[in-house]
Amino acid sequence: MAVKSRTPDDAFHPDDSYRMVLERLTELEGRNQELREELRQSKTDRQYLETQKVRYEREVRKLRSEIEQMRSPPLIVGTIADVIDNTRVVVRSSAGPKFLVRTSQFINAEDLKPGVRCTMNQQTLAIVEVLPSAYDAQVYGMEVESRPGESYSDIGGLQRQVAELREAIELPLKKPHLFERVGILPPKGILLHGPPGTGKTLLARAVAHETEATFLRVVGSELVQKYIGEGARLVRELFENAKKNAPSIIFIDEIDAIGASRGQETSSGDREVHRTLMQLLAGMDGFESRGDVKIIGATNRIDILDMALLRPGRFDRIIEIPLPDVEGRLSILKIHTKRITLADDVDLKKVAGITEGKNGADLAAICMEAGMCAIREERTAVTQDDFEKAARKVTLDFERNRMTYSSGTGTMFA
Ligand code: ATP
Repeated sequence: MAVKSRTPDDAFHPDDSYRMVLERLTELEGRNQELREELRQSKTDRQYLETQKVRYEREVRKLRSEIEQMRSPPLIVGTIADVIDNTRVVVRSSAGPKFLVRTSQFINAEDLKPGVRCTMNQQTLAIVEVLPSAYDAQVYGMEVESRPGESYSDIGGLQRQVAELREAIELPLKKPHLFERVGILPPKGILLHGPPGTGKTLLARAVAHETEATFLRVVGSELVQKYIGEGARLVRELFENAKKNAPSIIFIDEIDAIGASRGQETSSGDREVHRTLMQLLAGMDGFESRGDVKIIGATNRIDILDMALLRPGRFDRIIEIPLPDVEGRLSILKIHTKRITLADDVDLKKVAGITEGKNGADLAAICMEAGMCAIREERTAVTQDDFEKAARKVTLDFERNRMTYSSGTGTMFA
């Protein structure tokens, strides 16, 4: 059948309108697709913004509470002295006096124990929180080492002292059954005394090394604190720390700073020092001889120590560490020259002979100085002449320092 051709008059032919509708539909579908895509994108954006909002709100809350905390007045730190009941507690503030105060209901009643540190509101002194007893040993100048590196072979001379120390510290820690069998209590601690630089610290570290014990070193003057009761608390914590790390050796250097003889106290400072000493004595009485915590005290001034410290049962042995004699000096020199390259002409016996009156620390300094002489002259080995020069130099420096200090505020090397 022949198809009738369309003329220009056929403007509104139904096919045209059909095509137009189709085009419009396709266009609208495309648009619809675009809008759907936009909607999906907007939804993801909204979700993202909502999570951002939550994050910022959390941040704002955190900053607000931080500002709040910064604005809040500081709390006083005190110690619980007595617990009357769950709501009433006697506390001692670090300034001294005791108060009967209330506690916050959020504090666990079991945490309230005498001796525990707590924080208190400034105005009402009510206990706000109980502080943990854990402390940072380093803050209080305590040195804690799990096993020092020095051994007996690093100690020159002092054979008798080493033997005594091994008997009093090493034996009870390593073979406690020997003491049980004989039926005696092993020594709790020993006191080393003698001039400075003679190896007291070295001995204590070596015994800790040999017994594989934790070495806790504290200097007596660090235990003297500004506030009442703080020194005693430090001593208590020192003992607690030692028990926790047992077997351990507590080494109290310069024990005369707290252990000086108690006379007529003149100031509250003196009384605080004596309170610290009392705590030390109580601590020493408090732990078992058979336990695995031992104390080694060291002092250059045994003459001023309190008799209470010197009685048996506290420091059971008092060992003098004297200045080394010629034999001692020779073995110390041998130890300190172990790693030094020596020339053939070096005669350490001669060096020991010319260093009369020198302590271990001086001899170590002489060896180092002799090495410096060799380096200065670009040699690889140290000669006898270097040692002699070094001995003279160390003597001279040392004497000059001694003169400077003794003509100043007081004699330094008493
Ligand atoms: P202070 O009383 O001043 O604390 P101290 O008696 O504790 O002194 P140490 O700190 O033990 O003396 O010694 C200082 C240094 O001197 C040691 O590190 C060591 O190098 C050396 N020294 C002292 N005595 C000896 C020794 N007998 N054998 C080997 N080295 C020693």
